[in-house]
Amino acid sequence: MSSATDASLGVARRDLAAAYRLIAHFGLDDSIYTHISMRAEEGESRFLINPYGYRFEEVRASNLVTVDLEGNLVDDPDGAGINKAGFTIHSAIHAARADAHCVLHTHSVAGVAVSCLEEGLLPLNQWAMQFHGRIAYHDYEGIALDLAERERLVRDLGDKPVMILRNHGLLVCGRSVGEAFRRMYNLERSCKAQLAIMATGAPVRRPAASLCEHVAGQYERWDSDHDTTARDPEWEAYLRLIAQLQPDFAD
Ligand SMILES: [Zn+2]
Repeated sequence: MSSATDASLGVARRDLAAAYRLIAHFGLDDSIYTHISMRAEEGESRFLINPYGYRFEEVRASNLVTVDLEGNLVDDPDGAGINKAGFTIHSAIHAARADAHCVLHTHSVAGVAVSCLEEGLLPLNQWAMQFHGRIAYHDYEGIALDLAERERLVRDLGDKPVMILRNHGLLVCGRSVGEAFRRMYNLERSCKAQLAIMATGAPVRRPAASLCEHVAGQYERWDSDHDTTARDPEWEAYLRLIAQLQPDFAD
């Protein structure tokens, strides 16, 4: 049976294709590079990822490629293959973290800029406070072609939902595509706001760590009330947006 005809896989494919389109829509894509990957089926070592060489606007539910943990092709509708090196980071995290159904990685300008700052992301505003104490950092080792780096990526990520890849970019995990997208959207805004704050050169008011922890806890409680079985009104709103702008994403 074709994976695209299965009802549950249909939702995974639709959501993942929407995420590619939305990341491009908000200007967070980087040519044909960076990836969003999704576990194809609960408990299965099968993953959906974009076909190699496609711009994010060209990704559709039906042309997503299914691969195993080693990046071997299981189902490749257009015969495009995948960027195996690009999947290195994703496969390491999917293998190590059962809760990471979706892994979303970007090279946005603001994300790369913050990844180059010694202090990383600072909890200076409400967007950024949700990430207080929830961000892992991984030192740059060159383009991630080295399979041995996977162990260090997993060790550095630990149980965090977000990782800043130093001098490289951003990465988030989600229990669903919607959760991963929301995290990346907020992380990106946090990075942009931090750069805007730094650009003023004015003295910065730093919230107390206890307040940052309080806010991060508030976000976590919202997350725990919105597990993958509950409706996700924010993701539904994004799906409506992309369905209006680029309805062929779901083809
Ligand atoms: Zn990258």
